[in-house]
Amino acid sequence: SALVIAVDGPSGSGKSSTARGVARALGLRYLDTGAMYRGMTWWMIQHRVPVDDPAAVAARAGEPDIAMGTDPDAPAIRVDGTDVAQPIRTREVTNAVSLVSAVPEVRARLVDLQRRIIGEARRDGAGIVMEGRDIGSVVAPEATLKVYLTASENARAERRTKELDADPATTVALTRTELARRDRIDSTRATSPLAKADDAVEIDSTVLSLQEVVDEVLRLADK
Ligand code: C5P
Repeated sequence: SALVIAVDGPSGSGKSSTARGVARALGLRYLDTGAMYRGMTWWMIQHRVPVDDPAAVAARAGEPDIAMGTDPDAPAIRVDGTDVAQPIRTREVTNAVSLVSAVPEVRARLVDLQRRIIGEARRDGAGIVMEGRDIGSVVAPEATLKVYLTASENARAERRTKELDADPATTVALTRTELARRDRIDSTRATSPLAKADDAVEIDSTVLSLQEVVDEVLRLADK
């Protein structure tokens, strides 16, 4: 039956590059669930919903239309028909996303959407690599393989800073502070906090190259 591979872990652990690399190598679909939470957050900001007010966010969580592309070579996201691949990566969205993703109504809606996309991949016999925080624990506990990626705080902050290099004001120290804040909210929220599933295999990518991490996941998937 179709492969479902879960890749979970904190920001900057290398989830996206790893998940896309594995999907490409095995010819599977790819879904970035973090992009969905970012898309929801972008929509809330556009509609002037106060993101620090959980009741206000909950009341409108059903409104945005979020459409995901699942090609690992061209991941795509449209919110109400608008391509938001770039705007969901701004610092404004990044610093608000943990508040929005802590709202249970937001999670219920997006987890439902994520499970539909897994269901389609299974029906088509395609298989999928899912990247996020709660894939192995909540979204797809039945996944064929669960990977939990980690890396030291410094390595994660350095990677994230490189990704954000368009903004010269972004230093490793600032990124590190913002990452720590996001991790704290993500791992202490009441609904589906970031946590390693019991049956997930942990890979520490601090001193590994991307290719080494991808190869390790491919080796695990082969068993
Ligand atoms: O992976 P990325 O950094 O883009 O995720 C953005 C945010 O989305 C995370 O900080 C977290 O708050 C939320 N998220 C989540 N559950 C997921 C994926 C992301 O809560 N499965």
